[in-house]
Amino acid sequence: MRIREILATDSHKTIEIEIDTSKGTVRSSVPIGTSKGKYEVKYLPTQDAIFKFNQLKRHFTNDDFENQEDVDSLIRIIDKSEDLHELGGNLAIGISSAFLKAFAQEAGMEVYEYLLAKQKIKPVIPRPICNIIGGGKHAGRIDIQEFHFIPVHQRTFAESVMKIANAYRTEGKKLKKDDPTFTFAKNVEAAWTSNLTFEEILNLMAKVANENLLKMGLDFAASSLWDGNRYYVYRYANDMLNTHDQLDMIKELMRNYPVIYVEDPFHEDDFESFSVLSHEVTGRLICGDDLYTTNIKRLDVGKSYASTNAAIVKPNQVGTITDTIKFVEAAKHSKMITVMSHRSSDTEDTLISHLAVGLGCDYIKLGISGDRTAKINEMIRIEEKILSSSRLNLNSEIRIRR
Ligand code: PEP
Ligand code: MG
Repeated sequence: MRIREILATDSHKTIEIEIDTSKGTVRSSVPIGTSKGKYEVKYLPTQDAIFKFNQLKRHFTNDDFENQEDVDSLIRIIDKSEDLHELGGNLAIGISSAFLKAFAQEAGMEVYEYLLAKQKIKPVIPRPICNIIGGGKHAGRIDIQEFHFIPVHQRTFAESVMKIANAYRTEGKKLKKDDPTFTFAKNVEAAWTSNLTFEEILNLMAKVANENLLKMGLDFAASSLWDGNRYYVYRYANDMLNTHDQLDMIKELMRNYPVIYVEDPFHEDDFESFSVLSHEVTGRLICGDDLYTTNIKRLDVGKSYASTNAAIVKPNQVGTITDTIKFVEAAKHSKMITVMSHRSSDTEDTLISHLAVGLGCDYIKLGISGDRTAKINEMIRIEEKILSSSRLNLNSEIRIRR
């Protein structure tokens, strides 16, 4: 078992863990968030994580682990803090995911197959939610962090992403025409960046969505807009909205645009406003990301308020694969839609594609170009393998549960 410092997609340093198995070597690298939730596990600087790893390595190499739970409970024994600040959430998820890959390799399976067998669930291919235009903390002069395209009817994942890729390229051409400053520049998630206004972008996105039979999603990442007191600050739009105005604005744009998915419309401590929005709109997905941070206790609070009908799943927010699985199970148990997601600063690691299928998630949130294609292309390969074994239960109906 070894560790190294490598580069993440936005040139931040991150770590990669390698484990030798009887059948070869597996490798797991760790993504990083830019608009991180306050309740995520805490990362150590990479050199500190490497130091810690070398101190603790013997515990992980001497032990003969039977399964993932054994590995993850050792992580939780070594660091009893909820936010894993002693061991480092980055080191924890690196070790935990490398072991998942090692167990699958020892079993002679791909990771998604190993998980499906463990979970005793049938394969369902998730639908993509792809980031097309971006702003907020992900760079670009728009206050809203992500504008997505989402397929409504999915025959195959491959067909959906080809359609979205076509719409993404069309969007680029339209931006070139409408925004004189546009240079085909991309942000950290390889989404277009633009100087058009929020409304201009919504109009452009809606037009391309309608032409391509797609729907739209938005990630407000509203904790990044919240001033910590009373207002959501839209600095590029030169506007400030209180919670009531924010609610009205979101309801209005859902009336006027084909928006079927809204992520983090309010800041991460406002379970009540999420709940009000969820009760006032129907047939849309209201999703919690920073609200939950893949943490089952926060999901329980969300459930008690009926805050959302969807939840983002990011393994590195919680630090272990076992906790990630528990979160997905709990969300599904409450009939919530699950959305496996990449991070803004990520790596070429395709683990989340395997987790999305292996844990039976309804959606997977990804970028659509540049370094982001690694995970998309792995999804295409997984789907092809599943289709050829003809055990596919295509996720073809819209399942928006409330
Ligand atoms: C997000 O907020 O959904 C996201 C992917 O961004 P980050 O990784 O910066 O949290
Ligand atoms: Mg988000």
